[in-house]
Amino acid sequence: MPSTTASSLSRQAPVLNSRQATIQALRLAQAAEHLAAAYSQALSRWLGDPVLRLAGRPFITECYRSAERQNELYAQGRSKPGPIVTYKRGGESNHNFGPPTPAMDVAFLLADGSVSWSGLLLSKFARLMQYADARVRWGGDWNGNGRSDDEQFLDRPHFEVPTAQKGGPGRE
Ligand SMILES: [Zn+2]
Repeated sequence: MPSTTASSLSRQAPVLNSRQATIQALRLAQAAEHLAAAYSQALSRWLGDPVLRLAGRPFITECYRSAERQNELYAQGRSKPGPIVTYKRGGESNHNFGPPTPAMDVAFLLADGSVSWSGLLLSKFARLMQYADARVRWGGDWNGNGRSDDEQFLDRPHFEVPTAQKGGPGRE
């Protein structure tokens, strides 16, 4: 089946353009040291995997978030249309600390240029994040019991590391 062979050979891993790469460097620079290190290691393992690298290119959609932006997100699904995406008001989320910021949100760039928040891809990436640093907490499994179906608020794109600052777990 020459055509199948040709199409599988021509299948390209999605790559960031130079503008996207610049934004990624800026977002990664906002992240707390342990989180940035875990992300960098997980990313390099992902890109080194012949199957995963074709499935999508992980990227940081958000790291530091101002209190104003947090309040805008909080309004979504309450005083503004859209689904609820957070239970934290401005200043309450780990995204509002720093920089250095102990939280980041991750998605995947696909080969066609679209963005995916696939739960399957995120769970695979979460495993690599936690393999890189066991302190990483994943919003798809806050209590770390290997299951997502017992979480009150699933936030699969979200990763965080503990901080010395006040607060605690589940600060999406
Ligand atoms: Zn988040």
